[in-house]
Amino acid sequence: MTTTSKHESTSVEIDSVVEQSRTAAHAWACSGPETRAALLRGLASAIEHAQPELVALADEETFLGAARLNGEVARTAFQLRAFADQVESKVPYQVIDDPAVAGAPPVGHPSMVRVRVPLGPVAMFAASNFPFAFSVLGGDTASALAAGCPVVVKAHPGHPRLSRRVHEISQGVLVELGLPLGILGMVEGGSVDVGLALIRHPSIAAAAFTGSKRGGIALQAEANARPRPIPFYGELGSINPIVVLPEGIAGKEIEMATMLAQSITNGTGQFCTSPGVLIVMPSVSTGTFLDELVGALKAQKTHVMLTPGMRKAFDNGVQGICARAGLTTLLRDDVNAESAPRPYLGRVSAKTFIQDWQLHEEIFGPAALVVDVNNAEEVTHVLEAIGGSLTVTVWGASNGTSEDVAIVRSATQIAGRVLFSGVPTGVAVTAAQHHGGPFPASTQPSTTSVGYAALERFLRPVALQDAPAWLLSQEGRPI
Ligand code: NAP
Repeated sequence: MTTTSKHESTSVEIDSVVEQSRTAAHAWACSGPETRAALLRGLASAIEHAQPELVALADEETFLGAARLNGEVARTAFQLRAFADQVESKVPYQVIDDPAVAGAPPVGHPSMVRVRVPLGPVAMFAASNFPFAFSVLGGDTASALAAGCPVVVKAHPGHPRLSRRVHEISQGVLVELGLPLGILGMVEGGSVDVGLALIRHPSIAAAAFTGSKRGGIALQAEANARPRPIPFYGELGSINPIVVLPEGIAGKEIEMATMLAQSITNGTGQFCTSPGVLIVMPSVSTGTFLDELVGALKAQKTHVMLTPGMRKAFDNGVQGICARAGLTTLLRDDVNAESAPRPYLGRVSAKTFIQDWQLHEEIFGPAALVVDVNNAEEVTHVLEAIGGSLTVTVWGASNGTSEDVAIVRSATQIAGRVLFSGVPTGVAVTAAQHHGGPFPASTQPSTTSVGYAALERFLRPVALQDAPAWLLSQEGRPI
């Protein structure tokens, strides 16, 4: 296979890749922190070493631009090294030692040691919109490897040559370190059959996915329909509401509108954290703020979307929203006129928004909706109608009034991350991060796909009762 050819993995190839992964699983599960950290650091250095070549390839396939893509390589390398630090701190190897207590239960109990074991081979569905950070060596792969699980990547058909090259580089690192190649396998193809064959494979023990609500729901159903269902960690759609309270924009209408316009159009809106709903409380600043927002959106440059399919979905989404009753269009450039889509801004009342579930659907791309609310109670009703989001941003809840409390409580009910300044695009890779939230943000709201806690998804607790001394002497690991 050349690095330019299109390729669809056959069922024999998928079987062979998963078999290699299964064969490597035990050794990788037993590997110590030094080995895992060496691989993660080796992978980080290898992509940095090949950065100019990889960024050029990524730009050809995704149109995201060198500046954004170089930033993404830096984030991906940082992420790999951060997980190396986690394994060196022995996070995946943590043990809870609960010595025996003499006497009758419930006070008395046998010796209990709680360890965690890696789940086994993970099927990782790469995302289209992050060709590095959520692709072959992205956060899902890094966190699964850190947990001690081999990974089989389902490459995204939006960047096949880049995926193949990154995988090739990764295989070189495994060879250099004398590790089994099955620790990081890859399958590819542009039809759902490849992904289905992978998630149905009996040796796959878990799946991680970033992509559409439709794709995520279909794959989760497959994960559950197996004779032995497996955990499915899907990060799906999100409309990321921003609550604009009077104090949040007073005296800084232009600054806030400009920042918001940049966030809505950043990467042509192809971010899972792109703000899609602006819940605006009326004040003397509202008119200026919205006028400035329309002006700033008009001035933003956008670029070609990742795939023609996404562009079509965006145009259909905007067309669909414009047809809804009770909606006013504040900005709509001719979406079909250019190859790059132009920003869209609509406006509805809270009542209309709450009643029309179609307005709650994510439009992937540079589109947003202003929802007019009259009071804090309406803000909470709008948030409840949205139901699940990766983020909620609240501008101006600085006094802790009963209204602020109610809004923040609603925000924490529906989102994995609540921001009190700035914009939701840009997700820090750090210990306290939570990138998830109630469905459809995530299929598993108690887990995160970004940040150090992401590795917890791939570990399973085992309680060892009255374990023999030899097992305890090696921290409960049967190696
Ligand atoms: P997608 O269509 O969900 O595809 C993601 C991956 O899942 C691809 O590898 C795809 O394989 C596979 N897949 C999808 N449906 C499947 C099914 N029914 N059975 C088996 N495999 C399946 O996402 P996308 O191509 O990246 O973008 C499409 C839309 O997803 C966007 O317009 C946007 O709405 C949303 N999106 C969301 C996020 C997010 O961060 N939440 C990120 C990117 C995109 P094949 O393509 O080979 O079939």
